[in-house]
Amino acid sequence: MLRTIQRKTALLLTALLLLSLLPTASLATSSSKNVNNLPVGTTEGYESGANWFGEDFSYDVTDEETMWELLTRPITVLDIGGDAPEKTRVYPLDSPGGEKVLYEFMGGSFFGNLGGVHVLGEDEDGYTLIEGIDDYDRLITGYVKTRLLKEVTPNQKYGIIIDKLTQRLYVYIDGKLWSSCAISTGLVNDAQPFNETATGEYLLGSWVGGFDSEGMYCDMAIRFNGGDLIHQVPYVTLGDGTKRFSKYEALLGQKASHGCVRTARIANEEGLCIRWLWENVKKKTKVLVWDDDGRTLPYPDDALDLYYNENGGSYYHSVADCNSVRDKYLPLTGFKYSELDTAAYADLERCPTCLPELRKSIIDKGNAARGTSSLASGTAASSTDATPTIPPSSIDGTMVISTDDDVHISISDDD
Ligand SMILES: [Zn+2]
Repeated sequence: MLRTIQRKTALLLTALLLLSLLPTASLATSSSKNVNNLPVGTTEGYESGANWFGEDFSYDVTDEETMWELLTRPITVLDIGGDAPEKTRVYPLDSPGGEKVLYEFMGGSFFGNLGGVHVLGEDEDGYTLIEGIDDYDRLITGYVKTRLLKEVTPNQKYGIIIDKLTQRLYVYIDGKLWSSCAISTGLVNDAQPFNETATGEYLLGSWVGGFDSEGMYCDMAIRFNGGDLIHQVPYVTLGDGTKRFSKYEALLGQKASHGCVRTARIANEEGLCIRWLWENVKKKTKVLVWDDDGRTLPYPDDALDLYYNENGGSYYHSVADCNSVRDKYLPLTGFKYSELDTAAYADLERCPTCLPELRKSIIDKGNAARGTSSLASGTAASSTDATPTIPPSSIDGTMVISTDDDVHISISDDD
C-alpha cells in the first residue's frame, strides 16, 4: 500500500514536472525524434557498421557474383509477434537474462523481423549472443532470447544496395546489376546523432504508403528498419495546391534525411524511380546498407560533359535535353566538368531534375566528414547537454511503449 502511495506521489510529481517542461516539450515535437524520454546517446567509443561485411570487403557494385550471393543468402532476424512486429525494439542484454547493454533514446536496440543480426554464440539458458546495429549506426553486442532468432531466405529475384558513400540505390535483378538512382540517406546534427541511416542488412517489410513528416509529404514508403523507410523524395504543398519537390530533389546525391532513404521521383533511362520500386520489388527483398566511414568519394572525370542554358539559365545539367528546360532553349550548351568552378559557371546550381554530378567543393566536404567520422566527438557530447531529459517514467505516445522485458514498440514514422 505504502509503495502504491509512493508511486502515486511519484507519478503526480512527474506530471507536474512534465507540465513545467511543456513549452520545451511542445517545441521539440516539431521534430518528432527530439521528443525525449531517455537521454540522447553518444557514438563515442563505439564501432560503426564499417566492418559489418568484413574487414576486407570490397565495395564494388559491379562485382555481381559476390553481391548476388550476399543479396540472396539467408539472413537471421529477430522474429517478433504482436501487432507491430517491424517497429518493435529488442534490447540485447549484458548476460543471459541480465540488464540491457544500453537503454537510451533511440539507442541500444534492434528492430524486429527485418533487421539482420550476426549470431556470435550458442544457446546459453535460452539466450544467444548476437551483434547488430542500432539507430546511431553503432555496433552493439549482447544476448537476446534464442527463440527470437529466425533464419529467413530473402526474395530470390530482386536485391537492393544502398551506398552511403555514393548516395545511390542500386537494383539487382536475377543476379545482374540492373540500374541505380540518386538518394539521400540520413544526415546527423548536434541534437540528432541517430539520424544516420544504420549500416547493415535488412529485408523489405510493409508497403506503408505516404506519411507527413514535419510538413513534408513522403510518398510510397516501404519499411526496412523500424522507423526507416525507402520513400519518394519529399514534397511540400504550396498555397495553390502545387507539390514542390525541388528543394529536396536538389539534395539527392547527398545526405539529408532523418534516417529514411529519400529516393528519386523522376525515372531514369531504365525506368528506375521510387514508383518502380513501389510497383515491382517484393516483400523480403534484401537491402544492404553500406557504410561510408573511412571511404573516399572520388571526383568525377574532368572531361565529363555538362550543360547549361546560355540564355540566363540558373542550373547546370547532366543532359542536353533536360526536360525541366523549355523547348525553345534546347538543346542546352555543353561545357566540361573541369570548367564548373570557373567564373562563367561558378554560380550555376545543380539541376534538381537531371541531377548532374556534385561540385568538387561539396565532394570535399563529404570526404572531410568521413575522414574524421561524420559522428564527430563534439557532436554527441553537446547533444547530451542540450537535450532536456524527461523522466523515464513518462512514456510518450510517439516513442516507446514497453511490452516485455527486452522488447519495446516504437510508434512514429519519420523521414
Ligand atoms: Zn536538368
